[in-house]
Amino acid sequence: MKVYRIALVPGDGIGKEVVPAGRRLLEALARTESDCQFAFEEFPWGADFYRNHGVMMPDDGLEALKAKDAILFGSAGDPAVPDHITLWGLRLKICQGLDQYANVRPARILPGIDAPLKRCGVEDLNWVMVRENTEGEYSGAGGRVHPGFPLEVAADMSVMTRAGVERIQRFAFRLAASRPRRQLTVVTKSNAQRHAMVMWDEIACEVAREFPEVAWDKEMVDAMTARMVNRPASLDTIVATNLHADILSDLAAALAGGLGLGPTANLNPERVYPSMFEPIHGSAFDIMGKGLANPIGTFWSVVLMLEHLGEAEAARRAMRAIEQATANPKLHTPDLGGSATTGEVTEAVCALVGAAAKNPLATA
Ligand code: ATP
Repeated sequence: MKVYRIALVPGDGIGKEVVPAGRRLLEALARTESDCQFAFEEFPWGADFYRNHGVMMPDDGLEALKAKDAILFGSAGDPAVPDHITLWGLRLKICQGLDQYANVRPARILPGIDAPLKRCGVEDLNWVMVRENTEGEYSGAGGRVHPGFPLEVAADMSVMTRAGVERIQRFAFRLAASRPRRQLTVVTKSNAQRHAMVMWDEIACEVAREFPEVAWDKEMVDAMTARMVNRPASLDTIVATNLHADILSDLAAALAGGLGLGPTANLNPERVYPSMFEPIHGSAFDIMGKGLANPIGTFWSVVLMLEHLGEAEAARRAMRAIEQATANPKLHTPDLGGSATTGEVTEAVCALVGAAAKNPLATA
């Protein structure tokens, strides 16, 4: 029997509601899968920890995470703490510290979801966006001098390395090759950014030679926004820089039905370190503590975790339960126009997982 060691990092805001919901889904799966069990450890890091200790997570936090098989993360952000402190002190510290260089965000219109694209006659989309997760525009290089003076200077430097670009492009081509359409769109801005983005394009051409079975094209990031809205079926796998994919993946989530639904995997593909799974949304303080948070994005992130751990059957069962839940309008939270609570959706998805186990034919 395999016992997976799972770190739970709820973080801030509704992260504290959706991560426990994700844990309940894993527990429901474990009740019905005797050879796949989970040992949880919760790490109470985030803005409250910062208020008490002056840091978002302790110095030895990364070492504690390295001992785990996977991490389920909620969100980092608090109205009383500057965003760059919450983001750099926790989420980016983990992603960079554990070399989770591939951020992967699938986007599909789940059954029963009234997605904006559906209103334009698009019945489905099936995208997966790959975001470079450790360098580029969010490398952290830069600085400020003469703060507060008229000659104050501030600079954020986008840093791209050949090694960093090659590995993310290769990851994206490999992922595209594994999907039925074998198609990749490389997002760029090499017309205006004439150094790093030109290297990005050149490396895409080089890596493409290793994958002759993948049909690929290049799209400027500004044109990409219009293409996602006007020609969504022309896209399948997408790779973009840290900043570009940050923005495009929120657009993808909104087009597919809302921020509450989308999942994210922060992968260390070589598995030297554990990978981290989290919903696409942030801390959403406006709805915190009211039972209004949609847990579906976290549940789908749990599916990505199970797939990464090699538990394909459990992942399929969880995804099927999620889709059965979204297909039922009575299980829609207020962000989807319904009145179900976080707890009700969680109960229902866990029950569906259990029911599928009792009647395996129901999942066929
Ligand atoms: P952060 O600063 O941490 O990124 P935020 O509140 O600025 O957080 P998000 O949390 O990403 O941004 O979401 C923006 C809004 O979308 C929220 O204020 C909330 O109203 C809604 N929202 C996001 N996630 C969910 C969810 N899981 N369920 C319901 N509504 C959500």
